[in-house]
Formats: sequence, structure tokens, C-alpha cells
Amino acid sequence: MSTSPSRPTDPIAAEPALRGLLGDDRVRVDAAARTAYAIDATPLHHGAPDVVVFPETTEEVAAVLRLASEHRVPVVPRGAGTNLSAAAVPHLGGVVLVLTGMDRIRVVEPDNLLLVTQPGVTVATVQAAAAEHGLLYPPDPGSAATATIGGNVATGAGGLRGLKYGVTRDYVIGVEAVLAGGEVIRCGGSATKDLAGYDLVRLLCGSEGTLAVITEITLRLLPRPEGIAVGLAYFDSPAAAGRAVAASAPARYSSSARTAPSRPSRATSRRSPPAAVAPGRPR
Ligand SMILES: Cc1cc2nc3c(=O)[nH]c(=O)nc-3n(C[C@H](O)[C@H](O)[C@H](O)COP(=O)(O)OP(=O)(O)OC[C@H]3O[C@@H](n4cnc5c(N)ncnc54)[C@H](O)[C@@H]3O)c2cc1C
Repeated sequence: MSTSPSRPTDPIAAEPALRGLLGDDRVRVDAAARTAYAIDATPLHHGAPDVVVFPETTEEVAAVLRLASEHRVPVVPRGAGTNLSAAAVPHLGGVVLVLTGMDRIRVVEPDNLLLVTQPGVTVATVQAAAAEHGLLYPPDPGSAATATIGGNVATGAGGLRGLKYGVTRDYVIGVEAVLAGGEVIRCGGSATKDLAGYDLVRLLCGSEGTLAVITEITLRLLPRPEGIAVGLAYFDSPAAAGRAVAASAPARYSSSARTAPSRPSRATSRRSPPAAVAPGRPR
């Protein structure tokens, strides 16, 4: 998120005011912080942040963005920094806005199949909070233990359950976000029928911090399946594996698919004789 196309001449002019807003503990300009937040999980990319800040509320995020906008300082929102596309690397310097301090699940509403959370909560924590109520938050990226739910929404993260259940954007029904100038917006809502106007929720999913900083997320949950199992199958070729996946895909659209684990059908097994498939990074 940048308020200026070029690097500002005095990127840390906002530092004293930032300290006034957040206190000294949550504004870092020391070498350790600037080194740690110069990179994310992407190999070979690094930037050079001038200031690293750790807001804990929507109001603080809004105040930081307002200040950065006034000083024409670029801001890079950041969750856990697990993305692999250098999306949280501060290439232009400026402020890295770390959201891991916004780490509270606000409410779980089992009757409404909803969970409302701040963006810095890890995906695994969201999954566990849903499970406590007998519910399921299906998206399950490989980085779930460390990645934040805000980062998942901002990247539109997928995961191994994507074929059956869909991906992150399929479960986001409401978002509170702060625009570059500090204006707080809310889009979507807790009711499935909240459909009027442009679908800004979908627009923000996958926007990678370029449009707004996401400060609260309302997620749809599902009843937890009675059983969850992991299977391992071997195929003669990638094409055979692909055919097996295609043959099982309609299960996603059946009425029971949202609440019950899928099992490989006999037909699928017969059409997919055992063979090795090269493993890849789960995504
Ligand atoms: C081992 C491993 C496994 C992975 N598995 C998967 C996988 O299965 N599926 C998949 O899709 N990805 C996967 N990834 C990539 C990565 O985990 C995801 O992109 C994840 O969603 C990033 O979350 P994060 O909290 O780390 O965000 P970050 O990496 O910190 O940020 C990612 C982007 O989101 C923006 N952002 C972060 N928080 C906010 C916010 N609150 N508001 C606005 N913008 C924000 C940042 O500016 C940046 O553009 C994996 C990565 C690793 C290292």
C-alpha cells in the first residue's frame, strides 16, 4: 500500500508521531527489527524498512495509515511473513505494519456457523476455535500453524482441502478494513443474504495489501464431519492421478460433501492403479 509512486525523501519523518501513537515498545527502528522485517519467506528478495510498527487495534491501524499518508510514506502490511511471492517485502522502504499483535478471536457463533476474528490470529487457532464448538473451518494451507488468517485472506490462500471444500475466499463473508488514508470500511456481513452493492469482500480477498489493511474478518464455518481421515494413493502417472481427482470432483457439489469426508470410490481406485507420484510442496 503506497501513497506515493516513488521513495519518499524522508521516510522516517513520521517516527516521532508513530511513537506518540503506539508507544516506544511498538515502534522499532533498531537494526534487528529492520533486518528481520526486510524479508519474508521468499528466497532472494529483501527490502529495507525504515520503521516497523505493531498496532493492536483498528483505530491504531487507521492512525498509522493516516500518518503515513500525510508523510507520503509507503506502508507494507504484514502477517506472519510466510508468503512465497515477496508480497510482504518492503521494496520501497517505509513502514512495515505487523499485524500479529491483533490476535484475538472476537466471537464464535455456533448457531449461526460464524467466527469473527482479528487478522493476526493463526489459521490453526481459527481451526481449533471452530473445532471447540464441533465446527470446521476447512481451508488448510500448509502454513496453517504460522500464517495469519489476515494473510490468508489477503493472498486468497488455498490448501490441500481446496478441491473438496473450496479455498479461503469461499469462507470470508465479512471484512473490516482500513484504506490508505485511514478510513475504516466494512463490507459484507454476517448474513448470507447481505448482497447489496459491489462485492468488495471478494475484491479484498487476494488483494495482497494493495487496497486496504484488513482488520477484522467474519468467517463462515461448517458442521464438523463425523470423521476425518487421510489416505495415500499411488498412480502410474500424473495423468492417472489427475483422472482420479476429476472422477472424485463431483463429490464436492453433492449435498453431503460439505458435511462428510469424501472416500475414494471403488471405481476411482480401479481406474487408478498404484504407482508412484513425485511429491511436491503442499499448497
Ligand atoms: C511451508 C509453507 C506452506 C504454504 N502452504 C500454502 C498453501 O497450502 N496454500 C497457499 O495458498 N499458500 C501457502 N503458503 C504461502 C503462505 O503461507 C500464504 O500466502 C499465507 O496466506 C500468508 O499468510 P501470512 O500471515 O504469512 O502473510 P504474509 O506473508 O505476512 O503476507 C502476505 C500478503 O498479505 C498481505 N497482508 C498480510 N496481512 C494483511 C492484512 N491484515 N491486511 C492486508 N494485507 C495483509 C501482505 O502485505 C502480503 O501482501 C505456504 C507457505 C509456506 C512457507
